[in-house]
Amino acid sequence: MDIFSMREFDGHERVVFGHDEETGLRSIIAIHSTALGPAAGGCRMWPYGSTSEAVTDVLRLSRGMSYKNAMAGLPFGGGKAVIIGDSRKAKSVELFQAYGRFVGSLAGRYITAEDVGTTTADMEQVARVTNFVSGLGRKPGEAGGDPAPKTALGVFLGLKAAVKFRFGRSDLEGLRVAVQGVGGVGYHLCRLLTAEGVKLRIADIRPAAAQRASDEFDAVAVPVESVLSEEVDVLAPCALGAVFNAQSIPLIRARVIAGAANNQLAEENDGTALELAGVLYAPDYVINAGGIISVAREYNGGATEAQVTSEIHGIPRRLMEIFERARRDGRATNTVADQMAQERIGRGVARLVA
Ligand code: NAD
Repeated sequence: MDIFSMREFDGHERVVFGHDEETGLRSIIAIHSTALGPAAGGCRMWPYGSTSEAVTDVLRLSRGMSYKNAMAGLPFGGGKAVIIGDSRKAKSVELFQAYGRFVGSLAGRYITAEDVGTTTADMEQVARVTNFVSGLGRKPGEAGGDPAPKTALGVFLGLKAAVKFRFGRSDLEGLRVAVQGVGGVGYHLCRLLTAEGVKLRIADIRPAAAQRASDEFDAVAVPVESVLSEEVDVLAPCALGAVFNAQSIPLIRARVIAGAANNQLAEENDGTALELAGVLYAPDYVINAGGIISVAREYNGGATEAQVTSEIHGIPRRLMEIFERARRDGRATNTVADQMAQERIGRGVARLVA
């Protein structure tokens, strides 16, 4: 595997492999950029089919974190970690402590937190061996804790902004929304949408998760294979990445995409394909920044939950700016967002150099 020649390699500062014989830990940390501060981003545990699959994922995810942190105005660069393994079978206290030592070996260049397959409890184990971790348990009223509900709040507010922009309406009553993946974020998003009178369709590869959401929110469970082509107004992808691609885009009937998943576009030009198909795409790393805002404020200390919530309310304003610019310049929303993020990171470099 020639990492420097991989399509996903984007001038990453470091890609580090960690292995622990005793616990079987196999982990990769990618630091994309520290121009704006230490690299912050979650740790994904996933049963990757191969090491190169894991490298591809961590390279893409860490670049996304640079852009996400820059667009959210956080004093952090972008990084991400993956642990290769099945989170339902391979977890142990020792594994996460070994992972914590791996994070600690980078001496604060990378700060970890939870992501798909890892939880607050796992990060508590990491915190026993390193300080470079966030997304931990917290006291009521303090910033932090499980980021999923915060991410869901940001997606909910961003979805409302996208609906306003596309349909010119401020309420969601009777709107049809399909949510792909009702795990940590998707579940909380369903709760917020239901309270506003949305008609929900949901799909999850875990039957128990789908059942819980359909019971609690009066949501119609639809097949996993067809959720992206449901006849709805809005699609909220809250599972894994690369869901919008040359195969899926022609089948989409929604006019808005506003969801939590990272790296929703398989290729950059899929953003243009969505634009040409008349679909308004809310760039993933802008709309899903609620969790990292919470994690970052927890890590820096001193912030209250109310301050975090107020910061998350800035997400719709940033999205509106992107939508307006995209319309004005006739460009895809993801292209506009990428350029804005790159400019912010570039200015950070200039500031450090000056
Ligand atoms: P999660 O693992 O709790 O939930 C994901 C859900 O999607 C699971 O229930 C899973 O069964 C389901 N799923 C997986 N593949 C599916 C498929 N093909 N079709 C339907 N369902 C499928 O993860 P989460 O924390 O809710 O995160 C969801 C997405 O949002 C991820 O892409 C994650 O990277 C992103 N994200 C999460 C946060 C956060 O705060 N948790 C923050 C930013 C971005």
